[in-house]
Amino acid sequence: MNSRVYQGHFARKRFGQNFLNDPYIIESIVNAIHPQKGELMVEIGPGLAALTKPVGDRLDAMTVIEIDRDLAACLQTHSFLGPKLTIFQQDAMTFDFAAYSAEKGQAIRVFGNLPYNISTPLMFHLFSYMGAIKDMHFMLQKEVVNRLVAGSGSKAYGRLSVMAQYYCQVIPVLEVPPESFTPVPKVDSAVVRLMPYQEIPYPVEDIRALSRITTEAFGKRRKTLRNSLGHLFSANVLAELNIDPTLRAENISVKQYCQLANWLASHTQPQEQSQEN
Ligand code: SAM
Repeated sequence: MNSRVYQGHFARKRFGQNFLNDPYIIESIVNAIHPQKGELMVEIGPGLAALTKPVGDRLDAMTVIEIDRDLAACLQTHSFLGPKLTIFQQDAMTFDFAAYSAEKGQAIRVFGNLPYNISTPLMFHLFSYMGAIKDMHFMLQKEVVNRLVAGSGSKAYGRLSVMAQYYCQVIPVLEVPPESFTPVPKVDSAVVRLMPYQEIPYPVEDIRALSRITTEAFGKRRKTLRNSLGHLFSANVLAELNIDPTLRAENISVKQYCQLANWLASHTQPQEQSQEN
């Protein structure tokens, strides 16, 4: 049998289609999500409904965003699930979570076994809607989950770690082996829970400054801060902020990145910031 065909559907590589096939793992994920009637649940990439069905069983209504036209059409005609679903056949990268939350008058609980080819840009897309999101549960490559949870000093610590931990408490939930999917991916996977803070622990005045500093610092992660960020912060400024210029990007905590961002925002003209984004 063709290993890319599952439940009669040919898995499309370009959409990162690896379908969950393990009932025990599926049940564990749904229990971790713990959907409750009345909540605004939005699934990214429902596919063949491995998670959609058991989540939908616990709800009267739910919303899904699926890019694959054939899969979206199948869901529409699904006998039990179809009538409960609001289906957006579109790219989740273009979905306006803030507008949807405002329309429905409640914060969204987002979940999904994400297509691995776009999981990192999708996370950044979601970070721009934190005010509209109550929590998120995602299956990702284990390596991406390691980066999300990594603390300063660790090899996995990078821009994704800083931005995720700026907005959210990040909690690893479950590891998932490759055989739990059809077709079998080459990598291990893991489920992570992201809980946006009600009150951000280290708020920044301008998120673009944090984005710029982390991009530049981790873009040259082997260099010392003196070299990677020297054009933005003089040795005196780093000393004033109690940051050792001989350290590297991976040694700086989220709080220190936020301090750097606030210093930069208050010493930069607004037009200089906007040119960066
Ligand atoms: N949820 C199903 C499961 O667990 O078996 C499918 C997961 S599969 C890894 C990823 C799903 O996301 C596929 O259904 C794929 O078509 C869909 N997808 C891929 N790119 C997408 C995008 N940009 N926006 C929305 N859905 C997307």
